[in-house]
Amino acid sequence: MSTYHPLTEVQAIAYSRQIPNLFQEGSDLASQEIGDGNLNLVFRISETATGKSIILKQALPYAKVVGESWPLTLDRARIESEALLIEEALNPDLVPHVYAYDADLALTVMEDLSDHVIMRKGLIEGNQYPLFAEHIGRFLATTLFFTSDLGKNQQDKKIQQGRFINPELCKITEDLIFDDPYRDAETNNIEAQIRDAAEQLWTDHALHLEVAILRQKFLTSAQALLHGDLHTGSIFIKADSTKVIDPEFAYYGPMGFDIGAVLANLILNFAAQEGWSKDDESRAAYRSYLLQTVKDVWTHFEANFRSLWNEHGVDRVFQTAGYQDYFLTNLLQDTVGFTGAKMVRRIVGLAHVADIDKIEDAAARERAQRLALDLGKALIRINRQVTSIDELIAIVTKET
Ligand code: ADP
Ligand code: MG
Ligand code: MG
Ligand code: MG
Repeated sequence: MSTYHPLTEVQAIAYSRQIPNLFQEGSDLASQEIGDGNLNLVFRISETATGKSIILKQALPYAKVVGESWPLTLDRARIESEALLIEEALNPDLVPHVYAYDADLALTVMEDLSDHVIMRKGLIEGNQYPLFAEHIGRFLATTLFFTSDLGKNQQDKKIQQGRFINPELCKITEDLIFDDPYRDAETNNIEAQIRDAAEQLWTDHALHLEVAILRQKFLTSAQALLHGDLHTGSIFIKADSTKVIDPEFAYYGPMGFDIGAVLANLILNFAAQEGWSKDDESRAAYRSYLLQTVKDVWTHFEANFRSLWNEHGVDRVFQTAGYQDYFLTNLLQDTVGFTGAKMVRRIVGLAHVADIDKIEDAAARERAQRLALDLGKALIRINRQVTSIDELIAIVTKET
């Protein structure tokens, strides 16, 4: 037992030595802090002799954003480690293995995935990942189905929900995604060159109505245990493997929020090709890969989800003829709405994405920003009318 303090690299080594059955006694260990340092420390500890390595992720008691600091609960480390264990039980191949969780230090010891790359970086480099849609579709279907009232005993679900209330991290989402972008909020981060487009958001009343409906779902629709932050920076990938990390925002929420996070980040990269593709031909090819992936993610998700429901459904009433189709149509609509909302916030809200911000040419960056914003708005507007994933694809195709 030890009281909370942020570890130094040296302390991270000492801590790792005491983990049973891991490193050889007295062996030479190296430590490196590899996190981005805004919310959490991430140490990679490796044993020189064997090359064996682990990751220690430790929550900091504050978030550093735009120079300011605000307090943030350490309990999110517990939420992250518990969510990883639930996800691992459902799909052992799709998350890092958790070796240990230390409540006093708000620290999770997990498998080192340094042989993978962060998917956002891989997409910026123009790589293609043919197994990704199948992997993430399966991850979404199993985690969302088996933690929902469709696939889990409903009393057990309520008890589990109590462990994942997560009010502080939910509030970050509530503000940054479902409020600030639609008004002149101080936290917004708007490049001068798209100021006019941002200001249009603030008076777009039809859009505001849709965002209010989505916000209400985020606040009240406890459908399933969500990852809560499933962007391409929370996905480690290589040709034959996909691993989901960083579920510290996990809570019981609307399923479409997680699916929408994946689709939004693929479409943000689609918009960002204004700055990354070498020429028209390579841009068209990569965009067509990304759009096919968007479609495949939904298709794999839906196929997996329906077959889990047919095989493992726990609720007699929910087997009523027509209900599954009704549910999936509504889920697709939510997905489209959340996809749009997650795109808009990445252009005008506090936290942006490297796909767009790292484009050096200001004119190309502006085109990417405007395109992402237009796509996001179009998806939010249409969300409650969509009945097939092809309609989402058609919107993205039409705007480009
Ligand atoms: P945060 O919640 O602060 O965003 P993440 O869990 O996303 O923290 O981790 C931040 C970075 O640390 C990742 O982008 C990755 O570079 C590194 N990292 C995190 N977990 C692992 C892991 N299991 N294996 C290797 N690197 C990791
Ligand atoms: Mg660092
Ligand atoms: Mg992260
Ligand atoms: Mg995180």
